[in-house]
Amino acid sequence: MIHIVLFRNDLRLDHQPALQAALDARETHDQIVLLFHLNPSQFAPKTARHDYFFKTLNWFQTECQQIAPLHFIAGELSAAFTSLLATLGTNVTFYFNRQLSGERLRRDQQLIALLEDKQIPYQQFLDGHLHGVAEVKKADGSSYRVFTPYYRQWLALEKPSWHRIRCEQSCSPQYEGACFDEGRRVFAGLLTQLRAQQWDETIGVTAARQQLEQFIAGPLATYDYDRDFPARAGTSRMSPYLKYGVLSIVEVYRRVVTSEQRGQATYIKELAWRDFYQMIACENPTIQTEALTPQYRALEWEVNPAGFNAWCKGETGYPLVDAAMKQLNATGWMHNRLRMVVSSFLVKDLGIDWREGERYFAEKLIDYDRASNAGGWQWAASTGVDAVPYFRVFNPTVQSKRFDPDGAFIRRWLPELVLAKSKEIHEPQKYGLTYLAPIVDHQTARLAAIERFKRIKNKT
Ligand code: FAD
Repeated sequence: MIHIVLFRNDLRLDHQPALQAALDARETHDQIVLLFHLNPSQFAPKTARHDYFFKTLNWFQTECQQIAPLHFIAGELSAAFTSLLATLGTNVTFYFNRQLSGERLRRDQQLIALLEDKQIPYQQFLDGHLHGVAEVKKADGSSYRVFTPYYRQWLALEKPSWHRIRCEQSCSPQYEGACFDEGRRVFAGLLTQLRAQQWDETIGVTAARQQLEQFIAGPLATYDYDRDFPARAGTSRMSPYLKYGVLSIVEVYRRVVTSEQRGQATYIKELAWRDFYQMIACENPTIQTEALTPQYRALEWEVNPAGFNAWCKGETGYPLVDAAMKQLNATGWMHNRLRMVVSSFLVKDLGIDWREGERYFAEKLIDYDRASNAGGWQWAASTGVDAVPYFRVFNPTVQSKRFDPDGAFIRRWLPELVLAKSKEIHEPQKYGLTYLAPIVDHQTARLAAIERFKRIKNKT
């Protein structure tokens, strides 16, 4: 028997339900194959997430050497697995952690259909979330669309316990074969195309655990308050590790709970938002393309390529928005408060379709997650579930004064304002400093945004 563990967004050896099940099922002469499928339909070259992911996968390949080599197959799903099975035969069992929504779920369904057709056994597990998409339901079995009651129930449910994987030495015998040669070549080719050096020091489980422990030892205690200030290291920076499964969500949850630090309840609530949006994305497959509130599907957006371009480059004339976009473009990550500020600015101040912003984030974020990103954008655009009401429009200057009061974050990203005084830095033009003129007047834009929504509401 060959036990095949298929890895996807779960690139770790600790608390890996699929890997654990395969190791548990092994009998003396059974072989093990650790496998990654390189599916060209999933590549997103030139995006930050593509590079970050393949760098992580490259690290994981080395990590796997502790127990067995990580093998690759390449090509369209059906052809790749059919060819693999033609070589390995049918005395195999597959183990994988299931995907919960979107294209990934569709691919899982395709794989399952193929395995069932060939009568090949498989086992699938929940991973990546504390609660699966069907676990948190109202008493009548329907789904929540408002976060607070969802969260109340989410909180009351028992959470999985965390365990370190038992297999610490090499598992043998391992299957080796020429069927993995082509995959190895494709992977080597992919690695040569990644941008040099960027993110290298942050990749992998050691960096992830260091970051988590540092956060728990310090910022977690004041997370309730500090998490809104982008100049402070007030948040955990766990998002890319959770996205690619370098750390188990269960490990993060358990470490935070056992720390008994003051900010833990607020932090855990953020983890619940992650599960909430995943559930919403599963129930609304068009979350990236269609307003979750049907009434708002007819909203008319501005066609404003110049405005969009200025927003992308961080040249709007609003220093906090500009600094945030420069942070995103340079690092592939943006602070949550700033994601709210810049998304609101694009949609409400510039009147540009939230889907354009969603796509830009998808290109630039290393932690890009379809559910959280589309959920966040629809929240900001007031088109989502439990979204910001359409008449609440973030004022970028007020946000700047409140959340970057001395301008430390702005100065970090806008060298031209490095000498500006704290009072001046949020609206430099008012004080005669040389800076880009605002591309839009916020007060006028705010009224136009409210009108845009009112027109729709009056029609329906
Ligand atoms: P922390 O504050 O330390 O939070 C811990 C973890 O909780 C995060 O790593 C994340 O997994 C989860 N979390 C926190 N806030 C949210 C939230 N509002 N929604 C869902 N999960 C949350 N998050 C992504 O992981 N990927 C995205 O593509 C993404 N796009 C976003 C787009 C917009 C417009 C907005 C407003 C938010 C988006 N978020 C996204 C949510 C949030 O901004 C990030 O998760 C957070 O900034 C990551 O930094 P952190 O790990 O330091 O967060």
